Amino acid sequence: MPALSDRVGTFTDSVIRRMTRISNQYGAINLSQGFPDFDPPREMLDALARVAYTGPHQYAVTYGAQNFREALAQKQSKAFGREVDPNKEIVVTCGGTEAMMCAVMTICNPGDKILVFSPFYENYGADAILSGAEPIYVPLVPPDYQFDRSIIEEGFRQGAKGIIVCNPSNPCGKVFTRQELMDIGELALKYDAFVITDEVYEHLVYAPNHHVCMASLPGMYDHTITCNSLSKTYSITGWRLGYLIGPAYVVEGAKKVHDFLTVGAPAPLQEAAVVGLEFPQSYYDDLLALYTAKRDHLLAGLEKIGLKHNIPQGTYFVLVDIQDFLNLPQFAGYTDLQFCEWMIREIGVAAVPGSSFFREPVNHLIRLHFARSEEVLDEAVRRLARLADLLK
Ligand code: GLN
Repeated sequence: MPALSDRVGTFTDSVIRRMTRISNQYGAINLSQGFPDFDPPREMLDALARVAYTGPHQYAVTYGAQNFREALAQKQSKAFGREVDPNKEIVVTCGGTEAMMCAVMTICNPGDKILVFSPFYENYGADAILSGAEPIYVPLVPPDYQFDRSIIEEGFRQGAKGIIVCNPSNPCGKVFTRQELMDIGELALKYDAFVITDEVYEHLVYAPNHHVCMASLPGMYDHTITCNSLSKTYSITGWRLGYLIGPAYVVEGAKKVHDFLTVGAPAPLQEAAVVGLEFPQSYYDDLLALYTAKRDHLLAGLEKIGLKHNIPQGTYFVLVDIQDFLNLPQFAGYTDLQFCEWMIREIGVAAVPGSSFFREPVNHLIRLHFARSEEVLDEAVRRLARLADLLK
Protein backbone atom coordinates (compact mmCIF):
# COMPACT_ATOMS: atom_id res chain seq x y z
CA MET A 1 0.00 0.00 0.00
CA PRO A 2 1.27 3.52 -0.68
CA ALA A 3 2.87 5.09 2.40
CA LEU A 4 1.43 7.99 4.31
CA SER A 5 3.44 11.06 5.21
CA ASP A 6 5.89 10.75 8.10
CA ARG A 7 4.03 13.65 9.67
CA VAL A 8 0.89 11.69 10.50
CA GLY A 9 2.93 9.04 12.26
CA THR A 10 4.27 11.55 14.75
CA PHE A 11 1.11 12.36 16.67
CA THR A 12 -2.04 10.59 17.79
CA ASP A 13 -5.63 11.70 17.46
CA SER A 14 -6.77 14.05 20.23
CA VAL A 15 -7.06 12.10 23.48
CA ILE A 16 -9.56 14.71 24.72
CA ARG A 17 -11.90 14.09 21.82
CA ARG A 18 -11.25 10.33 21.94
CA MET A 19 -12.47 10.28 25.54
CA THR A 20 -15.74 11.86 24.39
CA ARG A 21 -16.23 9.05 21.89
CA ILE A 22 -15.58 6.37 24.53
CA SER A 23 -17.82 8.19 26.99
CA ASN A 24 -20.66 8.22 24.46
CA GLN A 25 -20.13 4.54 23.76
CA TYR A 26 -20.68 3.70 27.46
CA GLY A 27 -23.25 6.41 28.19
CA ALA A 28 -21.06 7.92 30.91
CA ILE A 29 -21.27 11.47 32.27
CA ASN A 30 -18.82 13.23 30.02
CA LEU A 31 -16.56 15.55 31.98
CA SER A 32 -13.70 15.03 29.51
CA GLN A 33 -13.90 17.27 26.42
CA GLY A 34 -14.91 20.69 27.70
CA PHE A 35 -18.16 22.04 26.32
CA PRO A 36 -21.30 23.37 27.99
CA ASP A 37 -24.51 21.38 28.34
CA PHE A 38 -26.62 24.53 28.31
CA ASP A 39 -27.88 26.71 25.47
CA PRO A 40 -26.23 29.78 23.99
CA PRO A 41 -27.76 33.19 24.84
CA ARG A 42 -31.34 33.60 23.59
CA GLU A 43 -30.46 36.68 21.49
CA MET A 44 -27.97 34.64 19.48
CA LEU A 45 -30.46 31.83 18.89
CA ASP A 46 -33.08 34.33 17.72
CA ALA A 47 -30.52 35.85 15.38
CA LEU A 48 -29.63 32.38 14.07
CA ALA A 49 -33.30 31.65 13.33
CA ARG A 50 -33.62 34.96 11.50
CA VAL A 51 -30.45 34.37 9.51
CA ALA A 52 -31.87 31.07 8.27
CA TYR A 53 -34.24 33.07 6.09
CA THR A 54 -32.32 36.28 5.47
CA GLY A 55 -28.86 34.80 4.91
CA PRO A 56 -26.02 35.11 4.24
CA HIS A 57 -25.64 31.52 3.13
CA GLN A 58 -22.68 31.96 0.82
CA TYR A 59 -19.03 32.61 1.65
CA ALA A 60 -18.22 35.62 3.74
CA VAL A 61 -15.01 37.55 3.02
CA THR A 62 -12.38 34.87 3.66
CA TYR A 63 -10.86 36.60 6.68
CA GLY A 64 -14.27 37.33 8.23
CA ALA A 65 -17.49 39.20 7.49
CA GLN A 66 -17.07 42.97 7.77
CA ASN A 67 -19.68 43.47 10.52
CA PHE A 68 -18.32 40.53 12.52
CA ARG A 69 -14.76 41.88 12.36
CA GLU A 70 -15.95 45.35 13.29
CA ALA A 71 -17.82 44.03 16.33
CA LEU A 72 -14.77 41.98 17.31
CA ALA A 73 -12.47 44.96 16.88
CA GLN A 74 -14.67 47.00 19.17
CA LYS A 75 -14.74 44.35 21.89
CA GLN A 76 -11.03 43.64 21.72
CA SER A 77 -10.00 47.32 21.45
CA LYS A 78 -11.46 47.70 24.94
CA ALA A 79 -9.58 44.64 26.19
CA PHE A 80 -6.26 45.77 24.67
CA GLY A 81 -6.60 49.47 25.52
CA ARG A 82 -5.81 50.41 21.89
CA GLU A 83 -7.62 50.52 18.57
CA VAL A 84 -7.67 47.21 16.69
CA ASP A 85 -8.06 47.70 12.93
CA PRO A 86 -10.89 45.39 11.76
CA ASN A 87 -9.50 45.33 8.21
CA LYS A 88 -5.82 44.81 8.80
CA GLU A 89 -5.40 43.21 12.21
CA ILE A 90 -8.01 40.42 12.45
CA VAL A 91 -8.53 37.05 10.80
CA VAL A 92 -11.74 35.19 11.64
CA THR A 93 -11.06 31.46 11.77
CA CYS A 94 -12.83 28.13 12.27
CA GLY A 95 -12.53 28.12 16.04
CA GLY A 96 -9.57 28.87 18.25
CA THR A 97 -8.12 25.61 16.90
CA GLU A 98 -7.60 27.05 13.42
CA ALA A 99 -6.42 30.38 14.87
CA MET A 100 -3.62 28.57 16.72
CA MET A 101 -2.63 26.43 13.74
CA CYS A 102 -2.70 29.47 11.51
CA ALA A 103 -0.57 31.51 13.95
CA VAL A 104 2.11 28.82 14.23
CA MET A 105 2.16 28.23 10.45
CA THR A 106 2.43 31.95 9.84
CA ILE A 107 5.54 32.47 11.98
CA CYS A 108 7.41 29.15 11.81
CA ASN A 109 9.56 27.64 9.09
CA PRO A 110 10.17 23.88 9.18
CA GLY A 111 12.92 23.31 11.74
CA ASP A 112 12.15 26.44 13.75
CA LYS A 113 11.81 26.09 17.49
CA ILE A 114 8.81 27.20 19.48
CA LEU A 115 8.45 27.40 23.25
CA VAL A 116 5.47 25.64 24.81
CA PHE A 117 4.62 25.48 28.50
CA SER A 118 3.99 22.03 29.94
CA PRO A 119 1.28 21.11 30.83
CA PHE A 120 -0.20 22.35 27.56
CA TYR A 121 -3.42 22.04 25.62
CA GLU A 122 -2.73 19.05 23.37
CA ASN A 123 -3.41 20.88 20.08
CA TYR A 124 -0.15 22.83 20.40
CA GLY A 125 1.89 19.66 19.90
CA ALA A 126 0.08 18.94 16.64
CA ASP A 127 0.25 22.62 15.61
CA ALA A 128 4.02 22.47 15.93
CA ILE A 129 4.35 19.14 14.09
CA LEU A 130 2.10 20.18 11.20
CA SER A 131 4.12 23.38 10.85
CA GLY A 132 7.39 21.48 11.00
CA ALA A 133 8.34 23.37 14.16
CA GLU A 134 10.10 21.79 17.08
CA PRO A 135 8.63 22.47 20.52
CA ILE A 136 10.89 23.33 23.46
CA TYR A 137 8.96 22.67 26.64
CA VAL A 138 8.99 24.99 29.63
CA PRO A 139 7.70 23.27 32.78
CA LEU A 140 4.94 24.90 34.78
CA VAL A 141 5.73 23.48 38.19
CA PRO A 142 2.88 22.41 40.49
CA PRO A 143 1.30 23.27 42.86
CA ASP A 144 1.34 26.91 41.70
CA TYR A 145 2.45 26.15 38.16
CA GLN A 146 5.35 28.59 38.37
CA PHE A 147 7.94 28.72 35.61
CA ASP A 148 11.62 29.39 35.50
CA ARG A 149 12.38 32.49 33.44
CA SER A 150 15.86 31.23 32.62
CA ILE A 151 14.43 28.22 30.73
CA ILE A 152 12.46 30.60 28.52
CA GLU A 153 15.52 32.76 28.01
CA GLU A 154 17.60 29.72 27.07
CA GLY A 155 14.95 28.73 24.51
CA PHE A 156 14.99 32.18 22.96
CA ARG A 157 18.78 32.14 23.00
CA GLN A 158 18.57 28.94 20.94
CA GLY A 159 16.54 30.93 18.42
CA ALA A 160 12.94 30.00 19.28
CA LYS A 161 10.60 31.99 17.03
CA GLY A 162 8.01 32.40 19.72
CA ILE A 163 6.30 31.14 22.81
CA ILE A 164 2.75 29.84 23.19
CA VAL A 165 0.97 31.11 26.29
CA CYS A 166 -2.43 29.63 27.15
CA ASN A 167 -3.93 32.11 29.60
CA PRO A 168 -6.02 31.10 31.50
CA SER A 169 -4.29 27.82 31.16
CA ASN A 170 -5.87 24.58 30.02
CA PRO A 171 -5.58 22.10 31.81
CA CYS A 172 -4.10 23.48 35.06
CA GLY A 173 -6.32 26.54 35.49
CA LYS A 174 -3.35 28.87 35.98
CA VAL A 175 -3.99 32.56 35.38
CA PHE A 176 -0.74 34.32 34.54
CA THR A 177 -0.16 37.45 36.62
CA ARG A 178 0.67 40.77 35.01
CA GLN A 179 4.23 40.40 36.29
CA GLU A 180 4.62 36.92 34.78
CA LEU A 181 3.33 38.16 31.44
CA MET A 182 5.67 41.15 31.60
CA ASP A 183 8.58 38.80 32.27
CA ILE A 184 7.67 36.66 29.25
CA GLY A 185 7.06 39.76 27.13
CA GLU A 186 10.37 41.31 28.11
CA LEU A 187 12.20 38.19 26.94
CA ALA A 188 10.22 38.07 23.68
CA LEU A 189 11.18 41.69 23.00
CA LYS A 190 14.80 41.12 23.97
CA TYR A 191 15.12 38.24 21.49
CA ASP A 192 12.75 39.73 18.91
CA ALA A 193 10.36 36.78 19.14
CA PHE A 194 6.58 36.37 19.06
CA VAL A 195 4.15 35.54 21.81
CA ILE A 196 1.18 33.50 20.61
CA THR A 197 -1.57 33.59 23.20
CA ASP A 198 -4.56 31.31 23.51
CA GLU A 199 -7.12 33.28 25.50
CA VAL A 200 -10.28 31.28 24.90
CA TYR A 201 -11.06 31.21 28.64
CA GLU A 202 -10.45 34.96 29.11
CA HIS A 203 -13.90 35.47 30.65
CA LEU A 204 -13.57 32.51 33.04
CA VAL A 205 -11.13 33.98 35.55
CA TYR A 206 -12.13 33.58 39.18
CA ALA A 207 -11.70 36.28 41.82
CA PRO A 208 -9.26 37.49 43.04
CA ASN A 209 -7.44 36.70 39.79
CA HIS A 210 -7.61 39.02 36.78
CA HIS A 211 -7.16 38.40 33.10
CA VAL A 212 -4.44 40.50 31.50
CA CYS A 213 -4.09 40.44 27.71
CA MET A 214 -0.48 40.10 26.61
CA ALA A 215 -1.24 42.44 23.70
CA SER A 216 -2.22 45.19 26.16
CA LEU A 217 1.21 45.32 27.83
CA PRO A 218 3.61 48.11 26.88
CA GLY A 219 5.39 47.35 23.62
CA MET A 220 3.77 43.95 23.23
CA TYR A 221 1.09 44.53 20.60
CA ASP A 222 3.57 44.26 17.75
CA HIS A 223 4.98 41.01 19.10
CA THR A 224 1.74 39.28 20.09
CA ILE A 225 -0.62 37.09 18.10
CA THR A 226 -3.77 36.76 20.17
CA CYS A 227 -5.84 33.65 19.42
CA ASN A 228 -9.32 33.44 20.77
CA SER A 229 -12.74 31.99 20.13
CA LEU A 230 -16.41 32.56 20.81
CA SER A 231 -16.92 28.92 21.82
CA LYS A 232 -16.60 29.19 25.58
CA THR A 233 -17.71 32.81 26.01
CA TYR A 234 -21.06 32.30 24.27
CA SER A 235 -21.46 28.52 24.73
CA ILE A 236 -21.25 27.86 20.98
CA THR A 237 -18.43 25.33 20.61
CA GLY A 238 -20.14 23.80 17.57
CA TRP A 239 -20.34 27.09 15.66
CA ARG A 240 -16.57 27.02 15.13
CA LEU A 241 -15.96 30.74 15.36
CA GLY A 242 -12.52 31.88 16.38
CA TYR A 243 -10.13 34.65 15.52
CA LEU A 244 -6.58 35.82 15.53
CA ILE A 245 -5.47 39.40 16.17
CA GLY A 246 -2.01 40.73 15.54
CA PRO A 247 0.03 43.43 13.88
CA ALA A 248 -0.88 44.08 10.22
CA TYR A 249 2.14 42.36 8.64
CA VAL A 250 1.50 39.17 10.63
CA VAL A 251 -2.18 39.23 9.81
CA GLU A 252 -1.39 39.69 6.13
CA GLY A 253 0.52 36.40 6.25
CA ALA A 254 -2.10 34.71 8.43
CA LYS A 255 -4.88 35.68 6.01
CA LYS A 256 -3.14 33.66 3.28
CA VAL A 257 -2.62 30.60 5.47
CA HIS A 258 -6.25 30.75 6.58
CA ASP A 259 -7.55 31.26 3.04
CA PHE A 260 -5.99 28.01 1.87
CA LEU A 261 -6.71 26.04 5.04
CA THR A 262 -10.43 26.66 5.30
CA VAL A 263 -11.43 29.64 3.07
CA GLY A 264 -13.52 30.97 5.91
CA ALA A 265 -15.63 30.49 8.99
CA PRO A 266 -19.37 29.86 8.45
CA ALA A 267 -21.02 33.04 7.15
CA PRO A 268 -24.50 32.54 8.69
CA LEU A 269 -23.00 31.82 12.09
CA GLN A 270 -20.81 34.92 11.97
CA GLU A 271 -23.93 36.95 11.19
CA ALA A 272 -25.85 35.39 14.10
CA ALA A 273 -22.97 35.87 16.53
CA VAL A 274 -22.54 39.63 16.01
CA VAL A 275 -25.25 40.35 18.57
CA GLY A 276 -23.22 38.43 21.17
CA LEU A 277 -20.08 40.44 20.52
CA GLU A 278 -22.16 43.52 21.30
CA PHE A 279 -23.44 42.31 24.68
CA PRO A 280 -22.89 44.70 27.60
CA GLN A 281 -20.45 43.94 30.42
CA SER A 282 -23.28 42.46 32.51
CA TYR A 283 -23.35 39.43 30.19
CA TYR A 284 -19.73 38.59 31.02
CA ASP A 285 -20.31 39.24 34.73
CA ASP A 286 -23.26 36.83 34.71
CA LEU A 287 -21.26 34.20 32.82
CA LEU A 288 -18.48 34.42 35.37
CA ALA A 289 -20.93 34.20 38.28
CA LEU A 290 -22.44 31.10 36.68
CA TYR A 291 -19.07 29.40 36.27
CA THR A 292 -17.86 30.48 39.70
CA ALA A 293 -20.90 28.74 41.19
CA LYS A 294 -20.25 25.60 39.11
CA ARG A 295 -16.60 25.55 40.11
CA ASP A 296 -17.42 25.96 43.79
CA HIS A 297 -20.13 23.33 43.53
CA LEU A 298 -17.90 20.68 41.97
CA LEU A 299 -14.95 21.46 44.25
CA ALA A 300 -17.21 21.19 47.32
CA GLY A 301 -18.44 17.82 46.04
CA LEU A 302 -14.90 16.55 45.49
CA GLU A 303 -13.92 17.77 48.98
CA LYS A 304 -16.86 15.98 50.52
CA ILE A 305 -15.94 12.63 49.03
CA GLY A 306 -12.24 13.17 49.70
CA LEU A 307 -10.77 13.39 46.19
CA LYS A 308 -7.62 15.49 46.01
CA HIS A 309 -7.74 18.30 43.46
CA ASN A 310 -6.27 21.65 42.49
CA ILE A 311 -8.16 24.94 42.74
CA PRO A 312 -8.36 26.43 39.25
CA GLN A 313 -7.86 30.20 39.03
CA GLY A 314 -9.47 30.18 35.59
CA THR A 315 -10.96 27.91 32.86
CA TYR A 316 -13.62 25.28 33.58
CA PHE A 317 -11.22 22.46 34.39
CA VAL A 318 -10.07 20.83 37.61
CA LEU A 319 -7.22 18.34 37.96
CA VAL A 320 -7.85 15.42 40.30
CA ASP A 321 -4.93 13.50 41.81
CA ILE A 322 -5.38 9.73 41.33
CA GLN A 323 -2.04 8.61 42.76
CA ASP A 324 -3.66 6.97 45.81
CA PHE A 325 -5.78 4.83 43.49
CA LEU A 326 -2.86 3.88 41.28
CA ASN A 327 -1.14 2.61 44.45
CA LEU A 328 -3.96 0.09 45.03
CA PRO A 329 -3.20 -3.48 43.92
CA GLN A 330 -6.12 -3.60 41.46
CA PHE A 331 -4.63 -0.70 39.49
CA ALA A 332 -1.03 -1.96 39.52
CA GLY A 333 0.61 -1.05 36.22
CA TYR A 334 -2.29 1.13 35.06
CA THR A 335 -1.54 4.21 33.03
CA ASP A 336 -3.75 7.24 33.62
CA LEU A 337 -5.36 6.50 30.24
CA GLN A 338 -6.25 2.97 31.33
CA PHE A 339 -7.56 4.39 34.59
CA CYS A 340 -9.79 6.84 32.70
CA GLU A 341 -11.08 4.05 30.46
CA TRP A 342 -11.83 1.96 33.56
CA MET A 343 -13.54 4.96 35.16
CA ILE A 344 -15.82 5.43 32.15
CA ARG A 345 -16.83 1.75 32.21
CA GLU A 346 -17.09 1.13 35.94
CA ILE A 347 -17.82 4.52 37.51
CA GLY A 348 -19.69 6.13 34.62
CA VAL A 349 -17.70 9.39 34.56
CA ALA A 350 -15.35 10.40 31.74
CA ALA A 351 -12.18 12.39 32.39
CA VAL A 352 -9.09 13.21 30.34
CA PRO A 353 -5.82 11.52 31.39
CA GLY A 354 -3.33 14.16 32.51
CA SER A 355 -0.48 12.58 30.54
CA SER A 356 -1.93 13.99 27.33
CA PHE A 357 -1.09 17.49 28.58
CA PHE A 358 2.35 16.97 30.08
CA ARG A 359 5.72 16.64 28.46
CA GLU A 360 7.05 15.26 31.73
CA PRO A 361 6.12 11.66 32.68
CA VAL A 362 3.04 12.64 34.68
CA ASN A 363 0.61 9.78 35.16
CA HIS A 364 -1.25 10.69 38.35
CA LEU A 365 -3.69 13.42 37.27
CA ILE A 366 -7.00 13.40 35.47
CA ARG A 367 -8.89 16.43 34.17
CA LEU A 368 -12.61 17.02 34.77
CA HIS A 369 -14.61 19.93 33.36
CA PHE A 370 -17.52 21.62 35.08
CA ALA A 371 -19.43 23.27 32.22
CA ARG A 372 -22.41 21.13 33.23
CA SER A 373 -25.63 21.72 35.17
CA GLU A 374 -25.41 21.37 38.95
CA GLU A 375 -27.65 18.28 38.73
CA VAL A 376 -25.21 16.58 36.37
CA LEU A 377 -22.25 17.61 38.53
CA ASP A 378 -24.06 16.21 41.58
CA GLU A 379 -24.66 12.91 39.82
CA ALA A 380 -21.01 12.81 38.74
CA VAL A 381 -19.93 13.36 42.35
CA ARG A 382 -22.31 10.63 43.53
CA ARG A 383 -20.67 8.25 41.06
CA LEU A 384 -17.18 9.40 41.97
CA ALA A 385 -18.00 8.70 45.62
CA ARG A 386 -17.95 5.00 44.66
CA LEU A 387 -14.43 5.56 43.40
CA ALA A 388 -13.41 7.37 46.59
CA ASP A 389 -14.81 4.43 48.60
CA LEU A 390 -12.02 2.24 47.20
CA LEU A 391 -9.59 4.07 49.46
CA LYS A 392 -11.58 3.34 52.64
N1 GLN B 1 -10.79 23.06 24.79
C1 GLN B 1 -11.62 21.92 25.05
C2 GLN B 1 -10.94 20.95 25.99
O1 GLN B 1 -9.77 21.12 26.30
C3 GLN B 1 -11.98 21.15 23.82
C4 GLN B 1 -11.74 21.87 22.58
C5 GLN B 1 -11.85 20.97 21.41
O2 GLN B 1 -12.04 19.77 21.52
N2 GLN B 1 -11.70 21.59 20.28
O3 GLN B 1 -11.57 20.03 26.41
